[in-house]
Amino acid sequence: MMITALTIAGFDPSGGAGLQQDLKVFRSFGVYGLSVVAALTAQNSAGVADVAPVAGKFVARQLDVLLADMRPLSVKTGMLYSVENVNAVARTIRRYSLANVVADPVILSSTGRSLCMKNVPAAVRKNLLPLCTVVTPNIHEAEVLSGIGIRTEEDMEKAAVRISEFGAEAVIITGGHLAGSANDLVYDGHAHWLEGRRAAGEYHGTGCTFSAALAASLARGKGVHEAAVIAKAFMRRAFRKSFETGKGMRLFNV
Ligand code: PLP
Repeated sequence: MMITALTIAGFDPSGGAGLQQDLKVFRSFGVYGLSVVAALTAQNSAGVADVAPVAGKFVARQLDVLLADMRPLSVKTGMLYSVENVNAVARTIRRYSLANVVADPVILSSTGRSLCMKNVPAAVRKNLLPLCTVVTPNIHEAEVLSGIGIRTEEDMEKAAVRISEFGAEAVIITGGHLAGSANDLVYDGHAHWLEGRRAAGEYHGTGCTFSAALAASLARGKGVHEAAVIAKAFMRRAFRKSFETGKGMRLFNV
């Protein structure tokens, strides 16, 4: 049987992030990728220049037509951009009883461009987190979702507990942006630390690549903790195989 996973994410012409990158990651795990576009961007390796939303009704329509026919074994959400899209995705997860849901709560690009409207984090907390198997914020996203400032690994644990209270079964806070270390926290009622070191340089699509690898492993039947270990190892290889093509950040050739 072909293993399928669905990404609901933004379109990135550079191919380094968003649904293009998700599809490549799925492929490298031997998982067939389905994709629903939730936002359009104009960007290159130097950053996001512009964003055009996709209407909530059309996100819902893409999902309905696809899911009436196919059933993905995991679902990854990325850049949803608007509250109506968050709500359309949440309704769809409930309607089709979708399992293995990974939410990457995309808020800001690494070059500082806002990738969501301002009330999206609140909608994610209220409507999407209760349906998630795992949510994968970076430090900044974890601060926004939890309302807790993060300076230390203890702060990461406090934020993870707070985010889990919104209903996600597990929370993975990626620590790559914490000064001094790049350990990731997997919180599933207990805190597990995955040790890592920050790769030198600037990279595009780190969060997308990690959460897509996680979704691919969940589709293949792994549990969250094992999937996180696999995704972290996948990232180490991705950093090693990264390349420069434009004037800006390095891209992952997965
Ligand atoms: N574009 C899209 C469609 C994304 O989903 C993301 C991040 O999730 C980005 C751009 C930003 O990527 P980065 O911050 O890694 O450059």
